[in-house]
This record gives sequence, structure tokens and C-alpha cells, in this order.
Amino acid sequence: MRTIEHWIGGSATAGGGDRTGDVFDPAQGRPQAQVRMGTRDDVDTAVAAARAAFADWSQTSLSARVQILFRFRELLVQHTDELARLTALEHGKTLDDAKGEVVRGREVVDFVCGIPQLLKGEFTEQASGGVDSHSFRQPLGVCAGITPFNFPVMVPMWMHPVAIACGNTFVLKPSERVPGASELVARLYAEAGLPDGVFNIVNGDKEVVDALLDHPDIDSVSFVGSTPIARYVHERAGLAGKRVQALGGAKNHAVVMPDADLDFTADHLVAAGYGSAGQRCMAISAVVAVGPVADALVDKVRERTADISVGPGVAAASSMGPVVSAASKERVLGYIDQGEKDGAKVVVDGRGLTVEGNEEGFFVGPTLLDNVTTDMSVYTDEIFGPVLVVLRASTLDEALALINANPYGNGTAVFTSSGEVARTFQREVQVGMIGINVPIPVPMSYYSFGGWKDSMFGDHHIHGPEGVRFYTRAKVVTTRWPHVSEDSLAHLNFPTAQ
Ligand code: NAD
Repeated sequence: MRTIEHWIGGSATAGGGDRTGDVFDPAQGRPQAQVRMGTRDDVDTAVAAARAAFADWSQTSLSARVQILFRFRELLVQHTDELARLTALEHGKTLDDAKGEVVRGREVVDFVCGIPQLLKGEFTEQASGGVDSHSFRQPLGVCAGITPFNFPVMVPMWMHPVAIACGNTFVLKPSERVPGASELVARLYAEAGLPDGVFNIVNGDKEVVDALLDHPDIDSVSFVGSTPIARYVHERAGLAGKRVQALGGAKNHAVVMPDADLDFTADHLVAAGYGSAGQRCMAISAVVAVGPVADALVDKVRERTADISVGPGVAAASSMGPVVSAASKERVLGYIDQGEKDGAKVVVDGRGLTVEGNEEGFFVGPTLLDNVTTDMSVYTDEIFGPVLVVLRASTLDEALALINANPYGNGTAVFTSSGEVARTFQREVQVGMIGINVPIPVPMSYYSFGGWKDSMFGDHHIHGPEGVRFYTRAKVVTTRWPHVSEDSLAHLNFPTAQ
């Protein structure tokens, strides 16, 4: 069985620890590889390599950086299928879904190929008599990224291309459940000509995370994962004086208004609820049906779930794969049981599903629960599986109040044919990313991605313009070139413009 190594200073390394972890094939329900579990010493080695590389990389011209980024982008295009296959095998999602995430990750690289434009500063002539001002931004130093299992390619790419384009060096700690794609990304960076030590990987679990959060020579931490860990990372890295952005979990609501096109809406709810087996941070997991629309909507969603073909992600016939682990499957089934006990109506039941030839796989079928109320755990908790719950509200205001009372604020959508409803919704909802008849409103790479409330800690959203700001810090320079004969105007008062 192959072992996935760390990547430090431009080559694969086993590091100094003796622990390894299983990397599962969720469709088979058994390990397919081993991954090294790093130690504090491995983190020290990676940070030292990144710090050493920072000296040259931060001084490398923008033109030279851009040439490497363009080559990296081309290599990502050439290796899209391979990256998608690694992702599908370790995560369980379908190949087409995995290709989609590779493309959305690569689009961040497209964006930062324009880094000279993004790093332009400001200049003010004659701010005072004979005095000019200008500002510019410089890289931070060594940046760390800690990422979740559900987007093995895209989520790390929200971070490292931006950090590296800005002149930083990077240490990535991928999810230990899906480390394979990051190893290939490291090789592609090397092939593109990125100098050794600019991009490093230390695989592992909490031991590596804590070492990164505490390390005195790491300047920033970007985290994406569940809310409890995001909060922990934000607090611990903040205490250590680092710049932190920590994106957490979600419960994304779709409000369906009586004037919505119900067939269109049902198609999109099924895609957004069950795609990737519900394991997307922007998945729709709660539908709020407004007014009389609920029964017809539930019927249409139920009909469409029959067309979902559940099977291994790498099989062409599958439209939905397994969930990521045995523990995840158990957790999802537990929530469905509890929802039923709490009085929810199980309209479509994904429990008890077995897939022929993959009897040990971690499969849960699409599940639809109706008559859910806000006190049930199927509503209050992030299930992160193929479970869509339906709640009912009488008015748009009631639906908005329900969403705004929820502690999460990642994504949300409204389905309507009214511009007035859409405008009210986008102005009043307390959520960071909003779709109008778009169920998964993931911002394009040239906007920034981030939720509100318990879905994000820290004040800079990720990638896009806010990503560039996160990975740089500003200097402002005030300049005077006096004539030799000029009166110096120096005095002891606080300086004001003349
Ligand atoms: P997770 O929080 O379990 O793990 C994320 C990372 O943290 C992993 O690298 C893991 O090794 C590390 N980690 C786990 N437990 C830790 C601990 N006790 N101490 C230190 N580090 C720890 O998340 P996951 O299960 O891999 O991913 C799913 C979660 O991520 C969901 O909650 C999902 O909503 C969220 N997510 C959010 C976004 C977003 O943009 N807001 C995007 C993708 C995923």
C-alpha cells in the first residue's frame, strides 16, 4: 500500500515521526493508502524551509512570479483528470463533481496570474506643499493553511496560490482523510519552476495543527473546517499574535416563495442538497417553504430523488457517492433516526441502502424530512450528509427571521420571480453569500468567499481581493525632496498640510 509523504523544501520526505494514518476508499469501506502523521519537529523543518525560501521569493520580480503561475495553471489544466480521480477515490464524490472543484480551484490561479495589477499601490501628489504620499503592500512571510476533507483541491487553492503570488511562502496541512491530491499539486508547482521551500506540506492531525498555531515563525493562519475547530484555531493562533481567517461550518437555507417556478426550484434543490452527498459547506440543507407552496414542492423533490443513482464516485453511472467515513455514515443515520423520533416526516429514507459490489462502502441514500421544526437536531446541527429538511413559514419576514436566528451564516438562496422579494432578501438576510434563484452561490475567484456569524472567524474573507489583503500588509510613505535653498518649515508642532 502506498504511503503519502510530506513535501518539504522541494521533495517528498517521511519526516521524523513513526505514526501513519489510513486513507480510506469510502466506496469500498477499506484503506487504500497510508499517510504520514507529522510531528512538531516536522513542522519546525517545514517552517525553516519556508522561512529560508522567503528571503529570495519575496524579492523575486512580479514578472518572474507570474511566469511560474502561468506554467502552474497550464499544468493544472493538463492534470485536471488526474487530480479529479485522486479526489474522487479518497473523498468519494463523483468524477464530474471532482472536476468541477479542480476547475474552481484553478480559477483562483487564473485570478492571481494578474497579481501585478492586484498589488498596485496608491499615490497622492502634493499632499502637502512639496510632499507626496504613496502606499504599497508587502508579503507577510510564512503562511499556513489547514484544510477540510470535502474539497481536497479547491479549498487549499483558495489559499496557497494567493499567498504565493503575493510573495509569501506556504505550509499546508491538508485533511488527513484526503491527502493525495495535495501531493500532486506540490509536484506540479515544482515542475512549474517554483523554488524549493516556497510550497510545503506537512500531513497529520491535531499535533501538526497545534504546532502550526503556536509556531513563532508563522505569520498567518488560514483555516477551513468545522465551526468548533475554526473557533479554536482563531483563538489559539490569535493569542500567538498571528493574522487569522478561520472559516467554519454551515446550515444553508433555501427560501421558496409561492411565486417561484417549482420545477426549476425542485431541480436545483435536489442538485444542491444531494450533490457530493451533501458534504459541501455551501450545500442547501434546509428548505423554508413559504405560504401554500410546501406540499407541491415536497412532492416534486421526492419524485426527483428517485433519479439519483448512488454508487462509487469513480463509476460513470453514479450521480452521488458515499459519505467520507464510517463515523460520518453513523452520524448521518443517527440524525435521521432522531429526526423521526422528534416528529419529522420521513418522505424519502436513505437508511438501509446497500450498493451491489460495494456492500462495505459508506453509502447513505438521499433523505428528505418534512415538517421539521427549529428545535429538532436535524435542523439545529450541521449534518453534512445527503439529508434535506423542510420547514414551513407563512411569510418572507418569518422566513428571514428564522434564518437570522440561526447561528450559521455561510450561504443562502431565495427562489422567487419577484425582484422586490429578492432585493428585500439580500438586504435583510444575515448571511455572507446569497443566491437569487442560484442554490450554491459560491463567489467567483475574483470576488471573496466567506460567511458571517459562526461560519467565519476573522475579518478577511478568503481569496479574491480580500485574500490579497489578508496575505499582505500595507506601508504608507510620505516623501519630500526639498530644494537646498528652501526654508525647512520644521517646527515642533504636529505636522499638518501646508
Ligand atoms: P474538521 O474541522 O474536522 O477538520 C478540518 C481540519 O482541522 C483538518 O485538517 C483536521 O485535521 C483539523 N482538525 C480536526 N480536528 C482538530 C482538532 N481537534 N484540533 C486541531 N485540528 C483539528 O472538518 P472536516 O470534517 O474535515 O470538514 C467538514 C467541515 O468543514 C464542515 O463543517 C464544513 O461545513 C466545513 N467547511 C467549511 C467551508 C467554508 O468555506 N466555510 C468549506 C469547506 C468545509
